[in-house]
Amino acid sequence: MSERITEQVPLLSIRDLSVAFRTQEGLREVLHGVSFDVMPGETVAIVGESGSGKSTTATAIVNLLPGTGEVTAGSITLEGRELTTLNRREIEAVRGRDIGFVPQDPMSNLNPVWSIGFQVKEAIRANGIAQGREAAKARTVEVLQQAGLADAEKRLHQFPHQFSGGMRQRALIGMGLAADPKLLIADEPTSALDVTVQRVILDHMASLTRDKGTSVLLITHDLGLAAERADKIIVMNGGNIVEAGPSRQILEDPQHPYTKRLVSAAP
Ligand code: ADP
Ligand code: MG
Repeated sequence: MSERITEQVPLLSIRDLSVAFRTQEGLREVLHGVSFDVMPGETVAIVGESGSGKSTTATAIVNLLPGTGEVTAGSITLEGRELTTLNRREIEAVRGRDIGFVPQDPMSNLNPVWSIGFQVKEAIRANGIAQGREAAKARTVEVLQQAGLADAEKRLHQFPHQFSGGMRQRALIGMGLAADPKLLIADEPTSALDVTVQRVILDHMASLTRDKGTSVLLITHDLGLAAERADKIIVMNGGNIVEAGPSRQILEDPQHPYTKRLVSAAP
């Protein structure tokens, strides 16, 4: 039986991925040959302290590295298709339809002068999910309702600053899931929120992805949260994966000194 499980084909496969940022002193490598898989329907968490390379990994996958960042080695495949060599148009299509991305900083990814409804609708239209004005509007309301936003229809004309942090995060998760992607990458989706709101939103995200069998790459600095939410945990430190395994194993029987330290520091 275990043989069959190992034969399953990964949805996302990262091999020996290195990323560097161009600085005045030259290239500074911040990811040093990272490898891991995400299987269909699996939730995988990447944990590690600030600066360990979590966001760099996430943005490299969707080709949204900050301006001076570049993949210097390795491969990223989604269902066997190499993503690092796609052109801009091709990767945009992948990002819209196959991979939903919830970036770490919601305010830098929502335009303050556009209404929430307009931004969600534009994302939907750009991805070709709904053609035509009426269809796009209907899908916008549906996406926001599914994301758990009360009175979604009334809120379409509101601007990001009129939303609470939790509501903005719900809107972004809704946008990430609008195209029913195979993979949702959520970078610290609830870190800015208080624990109660965090729980409600993560529960909601989990129910949406469970229903659809969506794989999730959940990025968080919170080991407790990762253990609670993920099937598998990847521990990063200084741009390397120091340990990876089933969540329970990481929590109950950590091997690497860094993981042991994280576990003992977790509340
Ligand atoms: P995490 O998400 O785990 O907090 P990051 O992936 O954001 O970590 O950062 C990993 C490393 O890459 C850090 O050393 C950080 O300083 C560096 N880094 C991140 N973004 C940039 C950038 N735009 N330019 C230069 N270095 C960066
Ligand atoms: Mg980060």
